[in-house]
Amino acid sequence: MIGTRLKKVADYVKGTTLADIGSDHAYLPIYLMQQHQIEQAVAGEIVEGPFQAAVRNVRSEGLSHKIQVRMGSGLEVIENGEVDCITICGMGGPLISDILLAGRSKLESKPRLILQSNIHSEAVRHALQSLGYQIVAEEIIKEKKHIYEIIVAEEGVMALTEAEMKFGPLLLREQSETFNEKWQKDYQHLTAIFETIKDKPLQQEKKEEIERQLKLYREAIHFAD
Ligand code: SAM
Repeated sequence: MIGTRLKKVADYVKGTTLADIGSDHAYLPIYLMQQHQIEQAVAGEIVEGPFQAAVRNVRSEGLSHKIQVRMGSGLEVIENGEVDCITICGMGGPLISDILLAGRSKLESKPRLILQSNIHSEAVRHALQSLGYQIVAEEIIKEKKHIYEIIVAEEGVMALTEAEMKFGPLLLREQSETFNEKWQKDYQHLTAIFETIKDKPLQQEKKEEIERQLKLYREAIHFAD
């Protein structure tokens, strides 16, 4: 029922009460409850179909008294201080960032955040920094050819450099094989774009920005030969 990606996320859940935002089928809170890792949960969903799927699954697992499935956008389904851990998984970084920023009043109690983005995790790190969070763990994992990032954050202060924002402060330090695979591919893609426009008279600004980005990659990452 639950794959490697959500199991990894589950490893980072701490506390007794969880909100899983964009829960879809509610697999994550159901799994955590069955592992006795949490005592209660809120599963938030904005779309009717996934909301109904979550209600059905929670009921069929006999957990309706422990997991409340609530319909709504982002953090509007919880009160400030109601949960001590929030998971937001399986979305792009910009959407996760929008949810965090729009729901900042629900983050005043500083619940632990576990955020699993599929793309553009940089947006998540920017949001965390501006919301008074610091990154305490990061993972990059590959499941069925897809590469995902998991960012775990707690209350604190951080001042990330441009490279740390983009690549992840802890992932950058570790430079795993999967990390290298992801960014090497991206670097090659960016290089190909640069090659197609470099001799064109226009797009000077774009060329300079791509060159700057390529330099950032070369300085930050130890690419495998
Ligand atoms: N979290 C699950 C996972 O990781 O497997 C499901 C991921 S699914 C790709 C994303 C879910 O987030 C969808 O069910 C979608 O309806 C929901 N969603 C998107 N935007 C949302 C928002 N602003 N508030 C709540 N749910 C949202």
